[in-house]
Amino acid sequence: MNYRHAYHAGNFADVLKHVVLLALVEALEAKPTPFAYIDTHAGSGCYALEGKEAGKTGEYRDGIRRLLFPDLGADNGQAATLPPLLRRWLDGILALPGNEDGLKLYPGSPLQATRAMREGDSAHLCELHPDEAARLRELFAHDARVHVHHRDGYEALKALVPPQEKRGLVLIDPPYEAQDAEYRVIERALKAALARWPTGVYAVWYPIKLRSQVQPFLRGLQHGMARRVLRAELLVHADDSPLRLNGSGMVVLNAPWNLDELLREPLGAMARLLGQGQPARWNLDWLVNDSSEATPAPR
Ligand code: SAM
Repeated sequence: MNYRHAYHAGNFADVLKHVVLLALVEALEAKPTPFAYIDTHAGSGCYALEGKEAGKTGEYRDGIRRLLFPDLGADNGQAATLPPLLRRWLDGILALPGNEDGLKLYPGSPLQATRAMREGDSAHLCELHPDEAARLRELFAHDARVHVHHRDGYEALKALVPPQEKRGLVLIDPPYEAQDAEYRVIERALKAALARWPTGVYAVWYPIKLRSQVQPFLRGLQHGMARRVLRAELLVHADDSPLRLNGSGMVVLNAPWNLDELLREPLGAMARLLGQGQPARWNLDWLVNDSSEATPAPR
């Protein structure tokens, strides 16, 4: 339990993860009935970008900060605008109390999701590290919609699904300290949760170092777990080195049918703005789509 998200807050991987998260919350809000948001690995909820940890790595400078200057990513020198989803996402962060004079704070997934949620929706946030859980509890002390659980997120998930609302979203965003073993734990957790709540939307974030490390997990998702599974990836380096974070991805089980369309333009813009040395690459495809005849094995 050495991982602290504060060192990575707002980096290129957070941008992808949290833009997908906003798209999913907005899709759930297309219906007036309330939904539940379950975050199995919540972190502390909010990060000071020039604080001790984030300031030390400065990862947000090659992440969210680049979105503040979209013109720099325009290949023809013309003024560039952000696609609407990316614009709403960035505006939501800039509207956070504390960011009035510029980007100082980066909200984590629990704060981003709950700020986008409605009065009648609810959130269950799980965090195992005692200090992070205490910060999370303090952050949401006055929000009656939010329940903070200081416990193992995978264990909690079994108890939390199906939620009372019977509709909603689970985000699984572990630190992958256990490397390959984490994928097996995620797969087991997904199977157990889907057995209890087959219609829930499940989003899993994963790091990309070596492509071969993630392939077995992605292939496993193609075997009857859910009727629609979308994969969205952004790679800022070639996926051939185990030594650094070359990219990251989100897979969404039971994804809204049009999630690929919602993400296509934002992903293109992220690739344009977040490339490191060379243009970033992206993948957006259905690993499973029950309306298609056959889905090719993931590359
Ligand atoms: N989801 C957060 C966000 O997007 O802002 C970031 C989460 S961070 C990648 C992973 C978090 O999981 C860390 O805060 C870590 O302490 C916590 N953690 C590690 N193992 C856990 C477990 N088994 N259950 C719950 N939380 C865990």
